[in-house]
Amino acid sequence: MHTNIHQVFAKTGQLAEAKEIISNCVHCGFCTATCPTYQELKDERDGPRGRIYLIKQFLETGSLTQKSRVHLDRCLTCRSCETTCPSGVKYGRLIDIGRELSEQVLPRSMAEKIIRWSLARALPNAQLFSALLFLGQTFKPLLPQVLKNKIPKKRKASPWPANSHTRVMLALAGCAQSSAAPNTNAAAARVLDALGITLVEVSKAGCCGAVNYHLSEHEKGLAAMRNNIDAWWPAIEAGAEALVVTASGCGAMVQEYACLLKDDVEYAKKAEKVSQLAVDISQVLLNEDLSQLVAQTQVAENTEKVAFHCPCTLQHAMGQSGAVEKVLAKFGVNLAKTSDKHLCCGSAGTYSILQPKLSKTLLANKISALTEDKPSRIVTANIGCQLHIDTAAKVPVDHWIELIDEKITANT
Ligand code: SF4
Ligand code: SF4
Repeated sequence: MHTNIHQVFAKTGQLAEAKEIISNCVHCGFCTATCPTYQELKDERDGPRGRIYLIKQFLETGSLTQKSRVHLDRCLTCRSCETTCPSGVKYGRLIDIGRELSEQVLPRSMAEKIIRWSLARALPNAQLFSALLFLGQTFKPLLPQVLKNKIPKKRKASPWPANSHTRVMLALAGCAQSSAAPNTNAAAARVLDALGITLVEVSKAGCCGAVNYHLSEHEKGLAAMRNNIDAWWPAIEAGAEALVVTASGCGAMVQEYACLLKDDVEYAKKAEKVSQLAVDISQVLLNEDLSQLVAQTQVAENTEKVAFHCPCTLQHAMGQSGAVEKVLAKFGVNLAKTSDKHLCCGSAGTYSILQPKLSKTLLANKISALTEDKPSRIVTANIGCQLHIDTAAKVPVDHWIELIDEKITANT
């Protein structure tokens, strides 16, 4: 599909990339079948193929209507369409480019500006987020029901191991996860410690950049990425084997540093190295010899059924479908049957706040798909999904690494 770029965008970077992505689409429409928003709304413009057309039209005319932007806003950026697309269309990059350009030509209402501005300041700032969460949890009984539902319960972290091994891996502490689910990285550190690996969080590293980048504040997102690279670089030069990520939303973003900073003379090479080192904790465990740990944790009878929700960022962006299930199976976890595994839970970064109605529908669908086999617990691999599912699930919702940690701790 050829695109004639409008002169209004003549001096804009990223257009060659956008044109190439659009040209790869052959309009087959296979992607619409696996798009959660198309499945719900049954409108071509709420599916990937329709959105590609809308962006092409926007780049050619230089203008976008409010109505068209609603269809772009409704996209979850789940990238289920990328997994389905036989032509390798990088839809996720295209929607990011299209959305950023739309902010330049079509101003938002004051209310939208305030919400987006607040999210872009509060979420990536770990200290501010932690303070707001503390206030929310303390005064939860006084809050209106709609806000009450959004405040996650208090979670405590068990101790980080004190051992120091020769093998060292870096951990991304992130922004929201460190205060909303502080036990996740601590559990990862204990599991890796049992395998003879020290996990280290570098305090100067912060948000991966995803919140700002996906809210179309690209420069702020890129600044967060450069800050993280600077923070991690000394440990990487000292021989850190990997950059372990326990929130797949962040993992997907860090794996894109190489692409997003490829034209930055100072950071391009370092970004490439960081992206190469970024791995989900499931991949780390699959590359290790788990036999001894597994033998230690075997119990005679294990009847507990656990449902696993694979985040879109893990399966569609990082391409790690099935990895967590393999680790859980090695440790003898009984996986509950679930359906529609490819579909988003409706969390999608800030989507649950910006598109509450659609997000709620997707969440209800996800909860029934996860609980059809009556699990006693749900586990996942991304903080956003964990907190979102926890707002509606009737069983505990945790990160799966906590389950493995509990098994190891119970047997030591
Ligand atoms: S599946 Fe790929 S090529 Fe086909 S319409 Fe969707 S994006 Fe285009
Ligand atoms: S990213 Fe997800 S919601 Fe957006 S078009 Fe693709 S499949 Fe649909």
